Amino acid sequence: MARKVPLMLPLGVVLVGCVPPTRDVSCPEVPVVDAAPRRPPVGGPVSLETFLPLLPDRDLRLELWAFYRKTEPLARRLAPEWTEVRLVIASDRSLWWTHGLIELPVAKKDQGALAHELFHGAYHRSALNAGEDAAWGEGFADAFRYLIEVRLLGSDPSPWRREMDRLKALTPEERRAARDADETIRVYSYPALLILERAQWDLARFEALWRDLDAKRAAAGRDILHEVFGDALAQPLPPEPD
Ligand SMILES: [Zn+2]
Repeated sequence: MARKVPLMLPLGVVLVGCVPPTRDVSCPEVPVVDAAPRRPPVGGPVSLETFLPLLPDRDLRLELWAFYRKTEPLARRLAPEWTEVRLVIASDRSLWWTHGLIELPVAKKDQGALAHELFHGAYHRSALNAGEDAAWGEGFADAFRYLIEVRLLGSDPSPWRREMDRLKALTPEERRAARDADETIRVYSYPALLILERAQWDLARFEALWRDLDAKRAAAGRDILHEVFGDALAQPLPPEPD
């Protein structure tokens, strides 16, 4: 992936996130022309100084920082090993990077995107991040986001949560039709709803389910989630030509 920004990325860095990097982007948090290359600070976790440092809207930045500080410990405790986040920057895409960077499209009423990205830090080090089970990472991240939004944002649902609630209200047939018609629903919302229903829309039950499935995947050494949820996320292969 070509990036015309002076953020020095070590070889072997893996990114995981919401939007596949299909094109070059310029990141609004990192100047394109800068004599001093910017790196995420070595060592400690992200601080207010390294959290959206160039965001001009100070109130929004502090609001997001408060949300981050409440959410990060909840994601961290679900990770078999935690990858420290060292820099969060505003961007035009959502991405979690293995070297401790989160890119975030900053918008009001969209704090929950941070919860989604933070959960990638848990999924990435889990036994479930393998084989076809890895495809469920986005669904787990959205399920975590939903429960965090309910806990932290309560009675003022975000537009994202309203859309999840709309899908929740569909019949199973309608939901499958929505899944088949929309790639975002197929990859994110549909598996998230399956997970949330299994966890009875409860954060403590979600944590218990997560730990149980991670242990079962580690013991089995093979894909388990398509059996657990009765649904395969992977697209069926096209038929072999005659
Ligand atoms: Zn994601």
